[in-house]
Amino acid sequence: MIGGGIAGVAAALTLADLGVPVVLCEKGRIAGEQSSRNWGWIRMQGRDAREIPLMLEAQALWRSFGARTGTALGLRQAGVAYLAETAEEMAAHEAWLNTASAYQLATRALSPAAADDHVGQDARRFLGGIFTPTDMHACPETAVPALARLASETGAAIFEHTAVRRFERSAGRITGVVTEHGSIACNAVILAGGAWCRPFLENEGQALAQLAVRSQALRTGPAPGVAAGPVGTRRAAIRPRQDGSFTVGRTGAARFDLIPAAFAHARHFLPMARANWRILKLRFGPEFFGALGRNRWRADQMSPFETTRMFSPPPDKALAAAVLAATGAVYPQLQGAEARAVWGGMIDVTPDEVPAIGPVAGLANVTLATGLSGHGFGLGPGVGQLAAHLALGHAPLVDPAPFAPSRFAA
Ligand SMILES: Cc1cc2nc3c(=O)[nH]c(=O)nc-3n(C[C@H](O)[C@H](O)[C@H](O)COP(=O)(O)OP(=O)(O)OC[C@H]3O[C@@H](n4cnc5c(N)ncnc54)[C@H](O)[C@@H]3O)c2cc1C
Repeated sequence: MIGGGIAGVAAALTLADLGVPVVLCEKGRIAGEQSSRNWGWIRMQGRDAREIPLMLEAQALWRSFGARTGTALGLRQAGVAYLAETAEEMAAHEAWLNTASAYQLATRALSPAAADDHVGQDARRFLGGIFTPTDMHACPETAVPALARLASETGAAIFEHTAVRRFERSAGRITGVVTEHGSIACNAVILAGGAWCRPFLENEGQALAQLAVRSQALRTGPAPGVAAGPVGTRRAAIRPRQDGSFTVGRTGAARFDLIPAAFAHARHFLPMARANWRILKLRFGPEFFGALGRNRWRADQMSPFETTRMFSPPPDKALAAAVLAATGAVYPQLQGAEARAVWGGMIDVTPDEVPAIGPVAGLANVTLATGLSGHGFGLGPGVGQLAAHLALGHAPLVDPAPFAPSRFAA
């Protein structure tokens, strides 16, 4: 197992539960990258329909993990609401109601008055919204480490500060991995390295249409009477934390660093870039020549996974200030709130923003579990379990076809 984010930890836990010997290598610390930096939303609402069967499994897994770990996950089922300030947003939310009803999900429409009620207001700021009461949220900083502890207690061997540099091969199969501390023999590998999967596979001679965009979040102080669960509006999205404070961000506000791979995979990503050009900032950042740009090293050489133990991109302070100001405007209870912490995170994306889970062409016995595309904290338990079942040759818990990494090869 390569990678100690939610996908890798969930896969390791699945294997340990099945009594399969598993070693998880993490170059930095468990959940040091995306899996502790996210907003903590575990939502069905608004998902691509291809992900719904897997998300239903993920929700069931979150509940069972909650039962096994006590309060460490900070797991709460308080629903997720999207509230609309414009007719365009309202139309987009209402369109998702059709998807919800096709899968018999609990999502319902909110009237303007119900939208106000949901966030303790009566200003008629919102045209309405949608609400899914079965959606959940959790505390990412503690949840994934708690699941890693559970996996370890169940039998998984978990090594932090252990970068995997390369695969070892014999007769077309992977026979082991070379880590910075030496080799580990294995029958199969699950690659759940988040944004690092593309450079890792390129170094092994395989292309992967995956890029990374910077996103960010901030934490306020406590504020009473806003909402019990996450609320998304175009200008500011909030998630209540256990201590009464909020994690705040803005959906889609991302910075895309142009790296050589962006040009190599440009034709795959152009439709997404066109759809998001209003909110996506393009930059030639340090990543052009830095960690994500370098793609050739030998097993006896220090790899980019050691030079960058933990991707911690600096947040855009101007964006954080704008989001905080908008938060006060949208949710008056948070007016004047200060940003107690602001942080960045690198989100890995596929061209269709749906994960890549399944075998890697040309690398027998390697299963990929990546491309969670900015909404993989909630889906992660399902991603890990599906990858583990595929690696073992067990019947998969959902049809894996929509996630096949080969879909980008054509
Ligand atoms: C600001 C922000 C907000 C978000 N909000 C949400 C949200 O509210 N809800 C939601 O569902 N999702 C959200 N996401 C997305 C979510 O966090 C990710 O989709 C998910 O955490 C990805 O998990 P992962 O395990 O695939 O990757 P990661 O968490 O990035 O883990 C990959 C791990 O692999 C390790 N690794 C890589 N290469 C190697 C190697 N060669 N050797 C050893 N280790 C290696 C890395 O160090 C890393 O720890 C958000 C993301 C960000 C950044």
